[in-house]
Amino acid sequence: EMFYGCVLCQSFAPTHACCITPDRTSLCGSINWFDARAAAKVDPKGPLFEIPPGECVNLEAGEYTGINEMIKKRSLGEIERIYLYSGMEFPHTSCGCFEAIDFYIPEVNGHGIVDRNYSDVAINGLPFSAMANQTGGGKQLPGFNGVSIQYIINKNYQRFDGGINTVVWMPKAVKDRVGEFLPQDLLPKIATEEEVTDINDLKKWLEDVDHPIVKTWAEVLGEEEEEEDCLYQNR
Ligand code: SF4
Repeated sequence: EMFYGCVLCQSFAPTHACCITPDRTSLCGSINWFDARAAAKVDPKGPLFEIPPGECVNLEAGEYTGINEMIKKRSLGEIERIYLYSGMEFPHTSCGCFEAIDFYIPEVNGHGIVDRNYSDVAINGLPFSAMANQTGGGKQLPGFNGVSIQYIINKNYQRFDGGINTVVWMPKAVKDRVGEFLPQDLLPKIATEEEVTDINDLKKWLEDVDHPIVKTWAEVLGEEEEEEDCLYQNR
């Protein structure tokens, strides 16, 4: 299946190009795969263009030679690899008009999602605007990834990072919007600003509701303790 790209946002994010696939709607949420296909056919020399996927290098991560070649060319060599389904490794670049940000919360080894309409600080203590400043501009910043709302409900959402099962917090307004399309057993385990206000509350909440992320804590904490032991022994 053909993929599509868009470089409309390069005027303010020179190294950014959206990769639009059937699973990943554009970051701004306004161009899906069908829209992109139509636009690229009508105006092949316009800002929307075909990206032949080429070889699949890593299916789980969504890495394709065609996308890597495209981003290398369009970012003038600045960006060399993109994992379509990860915010943690070689994330898709972010421009500035993304609908939401997927952000890693190291304290619980999970992910939060905050949308641009949320005016309060997110669960990590940062407002959308502060995260947007460091995420956007065409950068690749592991742990912060611009996404569309539509992508959140896709079955391949950030699957390389563990997928929707790693999402632990989102604003109530976003949860109301996407809730009916998410796994119904997970839905009550995703906290919003109505249930928790800081990371300590969140940790307790996740344990109380038995969120799937809690099962990863022993392993992650074990690795961190091992690293600390090694550092201590090497002193
Ligand atoms: S965010 Fe929207 S307008 Fe900007 S490059 Fe992506 S598809 Fe184009």
